[in-house]
Formats: sequence, structure tokens, C-alpha cells
Amino acid sequence: MKNIISLIAFLFAVTFLAAQANNAIATSSIKIEMLFPEGKSKALILSFDDGTVSDRRLVKLMNDYGLKGTFHLNSNKLGTKGYLTKEEIKSLFKDHEVSVHSANHPALTALSKIDIIYEVVEDRKELERLTGDLVRGMAYPFGNNNDLVIDAIKGLGIEYARTVKDSYNFMIPEDFLRWDPSIHQFGKAYFIANDSINDKKEMAGFYKLVADFLKSNSLALLDVWGHSWENDGVGNRWGEMENFFKLVSKRSDINYTTQIALVDYINAFKNLKISIDKKVISNLSSMDVYLKLDDKPYKILAGAQLSIKGN
Ligand SMILES: [Zn+2]
Repeated sequence: MKNIISLIAFLFAVTFLAAQANNAIATSSIKIEMLFPEGKSKALILSFDDGTVSDRRLVKLMNDYGLKGTFHLNSNKLGTKGYLTKEEIKSLFKDHEVSVHSANHPALTALSKIDIIYEVVEDRKELERLTGDLVRGMAYPFGNNNDLVIDAIKGLGIEYARTVKDSYNFMIPEDFLRWDPSIHQFGKAYFIANDSINDKKEMAGFYKLVADFLKSNSLALLDVWGHSWENDGVGNRWGEMENFFKLVSKRSDINYTTQIALVDYINAFKNLKISIDKKVISNLSSMDVYLKLDDKPYKILAGAQLSIKGN
């Protein structure tokens, strides 16, 4: 009899623990996924380097299509032949992002640490003076970077730095100081002179990636980089640029963003305070954050706290 009682007690305990364990597994497996601003599943970054006079035509085209851009400028080149003037920076890039590309466009990997710091700080300081705004982003000149360069720019207020290493995907980079873009404008078309077969192949690859982005069902970031001056080369590149803008503009599922605005948003998402059971989520940032909890969309207002009811 004693044995039976203890067996029952044992079975009860096992059942109880199993139930508890199931409950624990159920709550801790709540899946939290980020959505882009305004609850969108896609985001588009357009990032152009060097600040040449062709940026004027590009910015006009982007404004016509309601697109946002990030423009990486070399402050010591501004006002010299072929480059934008310092006076026009603020008005031209209104509603776009102005970002560091170093003061003089050297390969930073060839410089000493102090010279890297000089190139970045000088550029940042001058671009902030010209825009009257904070400048917190960067693109490496020629895409060149290594551990020394990245170590040097830490602490200079640079919150992301874009490379030129195309990822051919739509993922958000893990390390914002090694930010690989999705693809160069038109892929590597026109990289080889007078090679129309290569141009065609690369152009097709570019539009295939754009099409994959547009029909993607999961969270997708398309990050296209290049230079406005490339469009002045052979072929109908300005026409192609407009064709690309037509494809990606005015879509309700895309968040059109500068790179720094997206970085700020991702940081706000990463800084959410989440209870162990994931039923209380606090947004201490100054931005509304959008996310999916087990595939159900939620919006957590800036400074607000979300409490999910029920077990
Ligand atoms: Zn450049």
C-alpha cells in the first residue's frame, strides 16, 4: 500500500513537472522578429559615393520618384573640378543623408592609425559644419578596410561603415562597421570595356536580384551602392537608373530609408527590454518599433510598453 501511494505521488510529480516543462517551452519559444519602420517587410537603401556634380541629376531623379539616398562625401574635394560645391551640400541633400567618405579619399589601409583618424574626423567635422546636422555614417574609400582601420574609427562617432563587397543577399549585416551592400548599381556591368556580353549578363543579374527582393516574403533589405558619375559613361545608364527607380518606388511594402535612419531603427529594436516570458516588451527609444510575435504584428510606440495578456 505504501508503495502504491508513493508510486501515485511519483506519477503526479512527473505529470506536474512535465506540464510545467511544457508550459515553459511554450512561452520561451515565442518568436520575436523585427519588422522595418511602419511595419514594412522590406527596406531599400540607395548609397552613392564621391559627391561629384552628377549627384545633382541623381538627386533630382530620386526626388522625382520619392526615394531616399545616402551620399558619402570627401569634404576636401568639394569645390574642386568635377565636384559639388560646399555651398550646395545642405540644400541638395535635404531629406537625404550626408555621410563620411574620408576628407581626401585615400586607401585607409595604407595609412597610419593617426592619419586614418584625421581623414575621418576632418571629414565628419566639415560635413557637419556644411549640413548643420550630425554626420554618423561612412563608406570606406575604395571599400578598403581591415582590423586597424576599423579599430581606428571606433570612438569617432561613426555608427556604420559600408564596404564595396557585394553580398548578393537581403540580410542585415551583423557588424555595422563591416556593412556589405547587396549589390553595386547594375552589378558589374561596364566593369570591362567594350564587353557587351558581360554587360548584358551583369545587368540581367542585377534585375534578377531586384525581382527577388520585390517578391520576397521574409524580412528583406536591398542595399544598392554606386556612383552618380558612372551613369555618364557609355550606354544608357541614366535610363537604366530611372528604370530601376520605377521598379522599386511607390510600393506600400517598402520602407524608403537613409542608411543611418535604418541603423537607428535596428538599434532601437535591439535595445528593446524583454521579460523572460517575452510577454512584456518595453521600448525606451524615441522611435516606434514594429515587430512580429509568433507571426502576429505589433507596434510599440516610442517610450511605451507592450503587455501580452493570457498564458
Ligand atoms: Zn569613393
